[in-house]
Amino acid sequence: MIRFIRETGAVNAAPGAYALWLRLGAPLTATAGGIAVTLESGDYLYCGSAKGPGGLRARLARHRRKDKRAHWHVDQLTLQGQVLGAFIVEGGDECALNAALSALPIPLLGFGSSDCSRCAAHLRLWPKGAALPSDWENARKAAESPPPD
Ligand SMILES: [Zn+2]
Repeated sequence: MIRFIRETGAVNAAPGAYALWLRLGAPLTATAGGIAVTLESGDYLYCGSAKGPGGLRARLARHRRKDKRAHWHVDQLTLQGQVLGAFIVEGGDECALNAALSALPIPLLGFGSSDCSRCAAHLRLWPKGAALPSDWENARKAAESPPPD
């Protein structure tokens, strides 16, 4: 099951996959595989997985931190941009999440997928107003409606 969360503190320390919702407030020159492109300001979804200690909680907390050295491709975006939330699937697979987003454009080939033989990139542009798969939209609505009492 896919869930949407805004606060990483609410995430279990379980292994799984996520799609990180990122917003660039200004254009950013990003590189992958020696190719540099300018990413326009706007929203992006980055699919990754967390299998190490601390699982999803630790990984999402790292994505939010600004005091880190760029190690992964996605750090270029998290250092400059804003993390607005994440879609998470405990025990899930990052490539399956990425495949579910195949209707969204790829801004930079190879971004985040250097060790993946299936995907052209693990980063997608999320154009304003573009719909996500219905289970993703439902997860977002569920997270944003007030909790029942
Ligand atoms: Zn992949």
